[in-house]
Amino acid sequence: MTASPSPVWHPFTQHALAPEPPMVVRGQGAWLETDAGGRILDAISSWWVITHGHCHPRIVAAIAEQAGQLDQVIFAGHTHPAAEALARGLVAMTPEGLDHVFFSDSGSTAVEVALKMAAGYWRHTGEQRTRILALEHGYHGDTIGTMSVGARGVYNAAYEPFLFEVTRLPFPQTGREQATLDALEAACREAPAALLVEPLILGAGGMHIYAPAVLAEMAAICARHGVLFIADEVMTGFGRTGTLFACEQAGVVPDIACYAKGLTGGSLPLAVTLCRRAIFDAHYSTDRARTFFHSSSFTANPIACAAAVANLKIWADEPVGARIAALGDAHDERLARFRDDRRFANVRRLGTIAALDLVAPDPGYLADVGPRLAAFFRDEGLLIRPLGNTLYVMPPYCTTAEDLDLVYGAIATAADRFGRA
Ligand code: PLP
Repeated sequence: MTASPSPVWHPFTQHALAPEPPMVVRGQGAWLETDAGGRILDAISSWWVITHGHCHPRIVAAIAEQAGQLDQVIFAGHTHPAAEALARGLVAMTPEGLDHVFFSDSGSTAVEVALKMAAGYWRHTGEQRTRILALEHGYHGDTIGTMSVGARGVYNAAYEPFLFEVTRLPFPQTGREQATLDALEAACREAPAALLVEPLILGAGGMHIYAPAVLAEMAAICARHGVLFIADEVMTGFGRTGTLFACEQAGVVPDIACYAKGLTGGSLPLAVTLCRRAIFDAHYSTDRARTFFHSSSFTANPIACAAAVANLKIWADEPVGARIAALGDAHDERLARFRDDRRFANVRRLGTIAALDLVAPDPGYLADVGPRLAAFFRDEGLLIRPLGNTLYVMPPYCTTAEDLDLVYGAIATAADRFGRA
């Protein structure tokens, strides 16, 4: 008897073309294990979420303890110790001035919440400001609102009629930063509601890096015009860019900041949107119409919050910063050989994230080379999921130098096989 095909519909997967997915049954540190006993090095932290490694014992223990005590409670009109501890911890560790915490459960919802906070702020302060400014190549999620503010392309073409208009600023490419700042200055004169950016690096849009000075200047322009500055730190948060949060490198305190992926060390879905007091205050009123009308059933799930509290403790008493710095150096040593290799372009690194573009005959997001590369890496026992012809490595912070040798060795072989001769 042949097994019936799985009813599972996978995300961002063309089932007519994709190979059978491996059945992953275990995760430990930087490694995954399949039911067939195969080992896979998780070189992209399972979609950029795992920070300290899979199944970090302190996070596992916190989850187990919380699960046996309080699994879930409605968060409207109720609270619980894990959420309170987490909110206080986050206010203490995020840039000073972010002092209210709203919980949700994914990066997309954290950004949706940020957009709704901005809309509510302007409505309740009596100004008609609704326009959002965003960066070209941006990615903020796959819900209708977050697709609206992200870059448009083949992946959201079918949903285009549902999306709202935003003003898009050119990406601040090295040497062309002034064009972005000028466009922002001009757009700010039209009294928009907010600027939404991925600080320092645009992830899914192609791992494009820009300088902290540009981020600082964008925030300053927004401040001068009274435009809200929203930082989407969903990918960059919790150490990915070398510092705890990317905004730190620019000395920027956003009006609203979104965190998700690494918040629980990547173990459970949880997200937060932090904001300055003025935004909370605009909603604080005896007038019920000013309530912040947003919730989801699992808002601030206690088990996820306990995992996040454990993550904060790991940041407080393990040498996470040193691990991140060492990982950055280890990337650099191994990236050096590709800098003069004409089969690669734009060899780049920010913190724990390294990226390089394979000069392929068919570049672009839907390029056939992307899935072919992914299949090649899978055969090599590596989880690497290129963005078209852009290869990137974003491993957990516990990844060793030997692990990285496997990754970069496979990238060199991939160039021989798929790169332009
Ligand atoms: N914002 C950024 C910068 C992201 O990179 C992502 C996901 O990759 C999201 C938002 C959406 O997060 P999620 O996939 O958890 O909804």
